Amino acid sequence: MLVVMQAHATPENIRAVCGKIESLGYRAHAIPGAERTAIGITGNQGEVEAATLEEMAGVQEVIRVTKPYKLVSRDIKEENTVIAFGGTDASFGGPGLAIIAGPCAIESGEQAFTIAERVQRAGAQFFRGGAYKPRTSPYSFQGLGEEALKIMAEVRERFGLKIVTEAIDNESLELVEEYADVIQIGARNMQNFSLLKRAGRSRKPVLLKRGMAATLEEFLMAAEYVMSEGNYNVVLCERGVRTFADHTRNTLDLSLIPAVQRLSHLPIIVDPSHGTGKRNKVTPLSRAAIAVGADGLIIEVHHEPDRALSDGLQSLYPDQFEQLMAQVKQIAPVVGRTVIGMREHALVAHAYGSPSQASS
Ligand code: PEP
Ligand code: MN
Repeated sequence: MLVVMQAHATPENIRAVCGKIESLGYRAHAIPGAERTAIGITGNQGEVEAATLEEMAGVQEVIRVTKPYKLVSRDIKEENTVIAFGGTDASFGGPGLAIIAGPCAIESGEQAFTIAERVQRAGAQFFRGGAYKPRTSPYSFQGLGEEALKIMAEVRERFGLKIVTEAIDNESLELVEEYADVIQIGARNMQNFSLLKRAGRSRKPVLLKRGMAATLEEFLMAAEYVMSEGNYNVVLCERGVRTFADHTRNTLDLSLIPAVQRLSHLPIIVDPSHGTGKRNKVTPLSRAAIAVGADGLIIEVHHEPDRALSDGLQSLYPDQFEQLMAQVKQIAPVVGRTVIGMREHALVAHAYGSPSQASS
């Protein structure tokens, strides 16, 4: 159920309706919009007594939401959600594209600082790096844990980049929310419902990756889990799904972007690194992602990818990332977006389809 308030409803009216909903034993989610506030009701097993709510001061109408997802839906909030980071240009869902870049995993301070310096100079506002790595093999590098989080906190200090890093369980989430600016929930955990609920109780924004076999509805329901606990700052991320295709690691499903944007107000970004698994395909798919209307990119970058402890084959060299950013900057205005934080002098636009970008 959704209570749509009148445009002139007062904060007291809104509080009274929320109070009534809570007194009925449900949870109220007041989501302000440009024109009016809508209040989502969750926790109800069946129909809520609509008539009582309808009679309250400031209420315009009470709508039954038939879709399984409610808080993620445009029914509750028509305009796009913008997640801003106070005092910086960094945001998700605003006119400026969100650019996240960095290594798959933090390996050392020196590695992180070297990469951070390059991606910041090329125009990224966010630095990514895994501290806890969900690896297919238990014998592969599992991440440096809290030591990596401390390194990333230093990256923020030194380079002014916001930190995005993955939590793989409730224990790591405690630490990640302490050190990071954005909590990443990985593809393998997209349906780890207890973790999603825990992230929903955090005050930090959540970057939620699509599960490798998740339908659009399952993906939106995962975001609903986070929002149902009161954290409305969720960024979705398309990172490729499993198909029969074996020329790439995953099949990047760019059609998901307009499909999500039709149904949901949440920002959605694209991860062409995991989406393709191949360095030579990251730049072309990044261009396509911006053209299709994504709100940003998350890109793996490593200065010595041959020596990377994870995902070296899909990591761009810093120079390639710089070229990619120059191209993104050219495409962005075509779809009404900008790239903030780019230093003009550092950029050289390279022609599309240059030999270094040719597909194998
Ligand atoms: C990652 O971002 O390094 C990662 C493990 O991504 P995904 O969860 O999409 O596989
Ligand atoms: Mn990776």
